[in-house]
Amino acid sequence: MKELSSYLKNMPVSSIRKLVKYANKTDKKGIKVYHLNIGQPDIPTPKSYFEAIKNFDEKVDSYMPSEGINELRKEYTKYLEQFDVKVNKDDCIITTGGTEGFTFSLLALTNSGDEVLVFEPYYSNYNTVFAMADINPCAVTTHVENNFHFTKSDIEKRITNKTKVLLVTNPGNPTGTVLTKNEIKAIEEVVIEHDLYLIADEVYREIVFDKRKPYSFLSNKKLLNRLIVIDSISKKFSACGSRIGMVVTKNKNIRGLIYKLALSRLSVSTLEQKAAVALFKYEKDVPNKIREMFEKRRDVVISILKKEKLLFRIPEGAFYLILKLPVKNAEDFLIYMLEKFSYNNETVMASSAEGFYATKGLGKDEIRIAFVLNEEEMKKSVKLLLRGLKAYRNNNE
Ligand SMILES: *Cc1c(COP(=O)(O)O)cnc(C)c1O
Repeated sequence: MKELSSYLKNMPVSSIRKLVKYANKTDKKGIKVYHLNIGQPDIPTPKSYFEAIKNFDEKVDSYMPSEGINELRKEYTKYLEQFDVKVNKDDCIITTGGTEGFTFSLLALTNSGDEVLVFEPYYSNYNTVFAMADINPCAVTTHVENNFHFTKSDIEKRITNKTKVLLVTNPGNPTGTVLTKNEIKAIEEVVIEHDLYLIADEVYREIVFDKRKPYSFLSNKKLLNRLIVIDSISKKFSACGSRIGMVVTKNKNIRGLIYKLALSRLSVSTLEQKAAVALFKYEKDVPNKIREMFEKRRDVVISILKKEKLLFRIPEGAFYLILKLPVKNAEDFLIYMLEKFSYNNETVMASSAEGFYATKGLGKDEIRIAFVLNEEEMKKSVKLLLRGLKAYRNNNE
């Protein structure tokens, strides 16, 4: 038979998925697994979201406009005002999650063979879209020793005549890093001086700690014509299942192309768009409450990890932490945790960080922990992880 899609065949499977089959076996043995591997908060979605869905009383669940319903686009632009952002509803297109927004953005900006600069470690789902768009990601490597921060020259070293887009995730997943003023300035200068486009994935915008202020690149007037911002209600309202996201750009040509892609999938689901309107209208405080919860959980995790001789930096935002382990192969350790280790019939699952790096060989001794359990469970599972680490090292030395 004729060959199937070669780009899909060559595409690596997410590192998280690889461990799932081990976790399923652990479950079957009756051992409780604490999941620190998933990027989905356990926090209840606000009530007005579900009420809006219950109150839907149209006779037909019909297609909505491809760019999203006006009410949601309007509420969303009002919400952005608090970050010194002035855009209007026509600058926003509603997408099926931030994920579709990112896919559309990259497809609108690039041709086959173009290069996209991305800070590594980065959100591994981007890789699928890089493959779909047939573009080459060029990693600007950042390091845990430096809390994953960077300088202007770190970016410039990776620029070639094929570079077209700079992609930044702020706050970062999997790093929990928040851009400093200097880094924002470096990005601004590089993008303008080298005539690039900027995609800013800001799905964690509000989740910033230690009194940092949420920032949007949309408040930067110099960049507006080169900028696409990706947003989503998944994380800020704990509504991952809604699949409601947004792309915002002031550049009409880019928007025109994104709109063509939006037309091809007709529309985004009707009920969830209505529910998202309710979130922006009635639940303005929720993103701040969610931030407070994650900050407390972070503090719990840090207070335990501080007592160990392990290398990590204190997350500045989002809900992840990269932990460097004194082992050769962190994935092997994570499999050990699922296959061989348990304490009081419980164990822990985390993500190996290797899959978040584009450069081969990096991240082999790092894992990502997500703060997706309550404080008590976070405490318990981090302690379990450390206990497992001691046992693993005793077995392997
Ligand atoms: C969760 C996440 C998204 C998008 O999620 P959607 O549910 O598709 O809105 C995008 N970028 C990053 C970095 C994420 O962690």
